[in-house]
Amino acid sequence: MTTKGTLSLRNTSGAATAALQPVSVLRGVGPQLAAKLEQFGLKTLQDLLFHLPLRYIDRTKISPIGGLQPNMEVVIEGEVRAADIVFGRRRSLVCRLQDSTGVVTLRFFHFNRAQQQQLTAGVKLRCYGEVRRGSAGLELYHPEYQLLTSTAPAPLEQRLTPIYPASEGITQLRLRDLCQQALQRLTQQDHPGRGLADLLPATLLPAASSRYSLLQALELLHRPPATTDQGLLSSGEHPAQQRLVIEELVAQQLSMLQLRARVQSYAAPPLAAQPQLCQQFNDQLPFALTAAQQRVVAEIAADLAAAKPMLRLLQGDVGSGKTVVAALAALQAIGNGYQVALMAPTEILAEQHRDTLSSWLTPLGIRIGWLSGKQKGKARQLQMASVADGTAQLVVGTHALFQEEVVFAKLGLTIIDEQHRFGVEQRLILRRKGYAGSVPHQLIMTATPIPRTLAMSAYADLDCSVIDQLPPGRTAVETLALAELRRSDVMQRVRAACHDGRQAYWVCTLIEESESLAAQAAEATAAELQLQLPELTIGLVHGRLKPSEKSEIMAQFKAGEIGLLVATTVIEVGVDVPNASLMIIENAERLGLSQLHQLRGRVGRGSAVSHCVLLYAPPLGRIAAERLRTMRATNDGFVIAEKDLQLRGPGELLGTRQTGELQLRIADLQRDGHLLPEARRAAEQLREQAPQLVEPLLARWIGDRHRYADA
Ligand code: ADP
Ligand code: MG
Repeated sequence: MTTKGTLSLRNTSGAATAALQPVSVLRGVGPQLAAKLEQFGLKTLQDLLFHLPLRYIDRTKISPIGGLQPNMEVVIEGEVRAADIVFGRRRSLVCRLQDSTGVVTLRFFHFNRAQQQQLTAGVKLRCYGEVRRGSAGLELYHPEYQLLTSTAPAPLEQRLTPIYPASEGITQLRLRDLCQQALQRLTQQDHPGRGLADLLPATLLPAASSRYSLLQALELLHRPPATTDQGLLSSGEHPAQQRLVIEELVAQQLSMLQLRARVQSYAAPPLAAQPQLCQQFNDQLPFALTAAQQRVVAEIAADLAAAKPMLRLLQGDVGSGKTVVAALAALQAIGNGYQVALMAPTEILAEQHRDTLSSWLTPLGIRIGWLSGKQKGKARQLQMASVADGTAQLVVGTHALFQEEVVFAKLGLTIIDEQHRFGVEQRLILRRKGYAGSVPHQLIMTATPIPRTLAMSAYADLDCSVIDQLPPGRTAVETLALAELRRSDVMQRVRAACHDGRQAYWVCTLIEESESLAAQAAEATAAELQLQLPELTIGLVHGRLKPSEKSEIMAQFKAGEIGLLVATTVIEVGVDVPNASLMIIENAERLGLSQLHQLRGRVGRGSAVSHCVLLYAPPLGRIAAERLRTMRATNDGFVIAEKDLQLRGPGELLGTRQTGELQLRIADLQRDGHLLPEARRAAEQLREQAPQLVEPLLARWIGDRHRYADA
């Protein structure tokens, strides 16, 4: 790798001003076209050039007609043998074109008299089009064509023809022309490269793509020579493509590193380790920490002891024991006289945390506060007051914790549990709850593991700790998928499990995210199950119940007074009842992988062999089938997370909130994710060795989109 001071650039002078000229400098771009281009985000020459072709067609050589296959996009030359108007379902002009190897049909549904007169027997044509299987054998529908005269043999294309992403009202020809013009303007500056400076030193690029300057890469992609490897181009793995991809990924890493550096430039309270308190805590725990838990506890403890804010992501599979890790982190803050806020995404989960943490921490003399959105009046006033005067040392709650009017006396640490779908923006808001020039440390615990590529991109501003081990004595959940018509068999399973003193969940799902419809469905199901299984005590929870009703039922289930709990997906996260060993998920085909995995994580928490039955309504679509197959095949949340990313893509996985943050123009995380470690390294080196290049790179790739002035 490079050593300090040896970074050399092809050219950084002259800035990238030429590239930032508006598209209106190009020939043929009036206000109307400029407005249309702007709709597609194409405002400058650089925008145009970063608007890469989707694919290419090869018009550089003539294909023999005898060798045509359906779906080929080809150039052919031949002589018209016959041309007739055919009155089928639609009137069409049909020509037979022949070369020395064979005959093919050209079919035109729209044609004018001039065309009809032109296309007569004996005329020689060159045609471009896509081969299809038609009623008269192989056909080209509406081919572009050109008359060939013996005097002026038309030259063939020298380059592959780019096909740009469809942009309504702008033809391919027009886009091609504009891109060519833009390239010309940028390459024909007085100094080569001046129009679009190379900001990434070649030494930081992977060897293959370092052959290309940025402009050369763009030129190749907009006008690939006939000899370009089309296989590489179409898979996006051509070094010229990768040259752009890596630059964009480096820019994205830079923006995350910058964000992180900005946060770390703030002061945070250094929280000294609390060995005695932790010892006391561990002594009264009914279990010993696993090696993995001990490791991450130590990582967090070291962060907390520093005077800059911790920003740590704690990943661990469902049931890996993240709560106890959070409790130890909280102890360290509390031992130093600071408050801790612990936020959970749902009321049920927040209550459960309140109860678990109270049972662990109250014996140590720690005061627990509680804030939820549904709390009203006097109760809320009292809680707010105890948060504000510091009486509450650990404050557990839902999003309500982070409302404007909640003021902490001395907040030292925020812990966010079970969040998957939160963006950088949300992380920043929490930080503002600090006090007097200091920001709290932050620990974020994920609901399910995050695929590596996302951890390295969307979460690249965070340090990461992983609990890669489950507590001892867990057995994998056996999962099966059954079609709906086996419902009564499934009920017998529930009966048998409850008979053996075990408990079960029956989860109802709906397509709409409407909790009231889901609640109705759950009510109906509960009634049906009670009818079929009269001897069972059946409980019902859904989001429409009052918090007190919900917690009452959860408490009864936990105490074993309820055998079967019918629920909506409100029990998705965190609920912990070790004696429950059977879970039925209705309409499992409607749920995503991480949701299924979360739900299934409610069982397999005790020592009994647990089962999860995925009931589905056939026929299964391809993706749904793939999901159910994955669920049957593995219990490993890390494997499931990767599969989920593969099936859904990063946008869906992160939720709409983050897609904006991760909007990549050219790179594709699924295709290019393997370049992330390299991009990360390059970004770190660049910050250290050529900090003057950071801003221009961010401006080029990220613009205003991803700047957090208030970080
Ligand atoms: P998650 O990581 O899904 O949040 P929890 O923190 O809810 O997991 O822990 C799941 C269950 O495992 C809880 O009942 C918890 O008390 C228990 N547990 C956690 N750590 C251990 C351990 N080291 N040994 C045994 N049980 C543990
Ligand atoms: Mg948890």
